[in-house]
Amino acid sequence: QEDADYLVSLIRTTPGFPKEGINFRDFMPVLADPRGLSILIDALVKALPVSIDEFDAVAGMESRGFLIGVPLALRLGKGFIAVRKAGKLPPPTKKVEYALEYGTAAIEVEDDAIKPGARVLIVDDLIATGGTASAARTLIEEHGATVAGYSFVMELTGIPTPSELSAYKRSSLVTMP
Ligand code: 5GP
Repeated sequence: QEDADYLVSLIRTTPGFPKEGINFRDFMPVLADPRGLSILIDALVKALPVSIDEFDAVAGMESRGFLIGVPLALRLGKGFIAVRKAGKLPPPTKKVEYALEYGTAAIEVEDDAIKPGARVLIVDDLIATGGTASAARTLIEEHGATVAGYSFVMELTGIPTPSELSAYKRSSLVTMP
């Protein structure tokens, strides 16, 4: 509990960023703090939504998902898959477009990065609407792999997530409005 409180105390909230009405939650101060960083990775390991033998690789969402995905994968003895914003990776890749509040976004993974049949744990710093998490699942499945579960640092409450997400195991260290 003391560790959990310490983690939460390091999360910084900025009202009105990146636009009016948004409360931006930032976990960068956790990474900057030696004790916070250690607690964070330990807590993600402890909170894994599935057991360690139920997945083969960790996929991190650009870019904050990279910062936790690599140390987590290293700790667990798994490989790391980078889910990048579209347009940054050399071909061959697969790409998925998804809807944002205004407009669309696209994410991309290199074909070589995912072995067909692999069971993948998807990690990111935060889940809000779940749109990014759903798009990542589609992308993993297009590579012939499956999603074993989701690990998040923060989960925003009071926002409905897509119903198909509820079929997947997920863990979040902190829930906040
Ligand atoms: P969703 O697709 O679930 O609505 O949004 C999640 C994605 O947007 C994640 O990749 C996350 O990093 C980013 N995001 C949305 N809101 C916030 C926020 O308040 N803080 C941070 N750090 N990222 C956010």
